[in-house]
Amino acid sequence: MVDKINNEEVLNDENSKKTYSNFIQDIINKDMEENTYGQKVHTRFPPEPNGYLHIGHAKSICLNFGIAQYNNGLCNLRFDDTNPSKEDTEYVESIMEDVRWLGFDWGDRMYYASDYFDKLYEFAVELIKKGKAYVCDLSADEIREYRGTLTQPGKNSPYRDRTVEENLDLFERMKNGEFPDGSRVLRAKIDMSSPNLNMRDPVIYRILRATHHRTGDKWCIYPMYDFAHPLSDYLEGITHSICTLEFEDHRPLYDWVLRELELRNPPKQIEFARLNLNYTVMSKRKLLKLVKEGYVDGWDDPRMPTISGLRRRGYTPESIRDFCNRIGVAKADSIVDIGVLEHCIREDLNKRAKRVMTVLRPLKVVIDNYPDDMVEEFDIENNPEDLEAGTRKVPFSKVIYIEKYDFMENPPKKFFRLTVGGEVRLKNAYFIKCNSVVKDENGEIVELHCTYDPASRGGESPDGRKVKGTIHWVSAQHAIDIEVRLYNNLFTAANPSDDTEGKEFTDYINKDSLEVLKGCKAERSLLNADLKERYQFLRTGYFCLDSKYSKEGSLIFNRVVGLKDTWAKISKE
Ligand code: ATP
Ligand code: MG
Repeated sequence: MVDKINNEEVLNDENSKKTYSNFIQDIINKDMEENTYGQKVHTRFPPEPNGYLHIGHAKSICLNFGIAQYNNGLCNLRFDDTNPSKEDTEYVESIMEDVRWLGFDWGDRMYYASDYFDKLYEFAVELIKKGKAYVCDLSADEIREYRGTLTQPGKNSPYRDRTVEENLDLFERMKNGEFPDGSRVLRAKIDMSSPNLNMRDPVIYRILRATHHRTGDKWCIYPMYDFAHPLSDYLEGITHSICTLEFEDHRPLYDWVLRELELRNPPKQIEFARLNLNYTVMSKRKLLKLVKEGYVDGWDDPRMPTISGLRRRGYTPESIRDFCNRIGVAKADSIVDIGVLEHCIREDLNKRAKRVMTVLRPLKVVIDNYPDDMVEEFDIENNPEDLEAGTRKVPFSKVIYIEKYDFMENPPKKFFRLTVGGEVRLKNAYFIKCNSVVKDENGEIVELHCTYDPASRGGESPDGRKVKGTIHWVSAQHAIDIEVRLYNNLFTAANPSDDTEGKEFTDYINKDSLEVLKGCKAERSLLNADLKERYQFLRTGYFCLDSKYSKEGSLIFNRVVGLKDTWAKISKE
């Protein structure tokens, strides 16, 4: 089982340098001291273009590019495209966009494992010549059967002792398309009784007639990941090949391939713990299912943990990099609370977001003693956290909207907002008192009648009388209509998986993960809202325009995150 990370530690701002003081940097320091790779540090980020990148990949990106930057080294972007049936150029493009958006630059070093298919073939021939690989005619099932188990050694394939000549001939004919898919494979000749199953003569080439997104139909044999990866690293001059823990057991094979081919100065594989977040899923298979079966509105649905989803939701690259630094790099698996990610964006937006007033669930308020045609403008600060952000003029008039939840006809004790007979402060404007309510035929309150105190202009108390509540408002005649989309966790279970109680992970989808509010009222300054900006809707949360559906004349805002940092509170308790 995985442990939860130490939340206190993550909150500590001192941790922003964490990426650069961890066990991986320790290994690099030692290599530098011993001159293993000279003073060179060269990493790579190796996504398989079979889906969009998610926040877990962001951790790997920040680590690989970050470590390279920190050590004045280089980081390549390499598409690990050895599995043609699932890969697609749509994914290649989205991956490039996402890495760039996160703020990283691979310079002119964008590669594809498929660039090396010719060389990989030659390496395989080389292995055969060294007597270290053979063509095997066992079926996939037989290979599995022969492999043995964790407690039982495997047995040798009857084809294991083919001569070099026969192997060379058969392998070439595999390449030339003489044999059907799946009928033969090339296997490394290692040790069928190795305690490590990966070392029991693993398959390194298979026959597969599938059109590759780059090499088309040139090849009908494809190298396996465990063979292609160390050699791609080697060919690119990678020094430190950083990957996630599930590859730990593959490291002996990684090293074997490089050693048997007698390659000099081989790269070093280093494993770290992958990022897990609660209330979401990160496996590409699951994300693809959510997209394909219409549970979400594409890979960039703002509820998805994908980089494109987070971007559309309104996350900034800075907040994601901050998150990746805070969670650090460890050797043991853990689950990070989704609240940590929200904490990071909230901190970032608190500094940069412009404040505006909007009313999401409007209730009409008529101020009976306010002159019919009068309009006043109040100066309201754009961001109390940033004095240079200045102020803006916000119009006020006789009819305004307030939030429905800011009025109660039968309030409980300690309700400090508006009630019949009660007084409240309208932010930066006036004190108002509610005198009566108007209801529709269903008994629902549709309008309040209030009076204002002209002496409380600017929201200052004229005579020292106290008003406990301050609420936000929007002038009705000046308001614009907007649509607002509120998001919640996509799943109701902390760890939505397929096997608990025989359920599928999709059974745990949160039906209330998206709430669409139409006819919200906003101050007119939002007419000039910019896709690049983020806004704090006063008392409501942080918002941004939806890049997919918002257009002039019909503005749609996504809630990035609410204002309340429940997570920070819990972690301090
Ligand atoms: P799949 O879900 O198909 O197994 P993957 O998540 O391994 O795919 P890749 O495209 O192979 O996706 O990953 C690219 C790189 O990102 C790899 O080095 C991988 O180790 C790393 N990576 C993937 N998921 C995470 C994660 N959750 N945390 C940290 N790194 C990750
Ligand atoms: Mg992978």
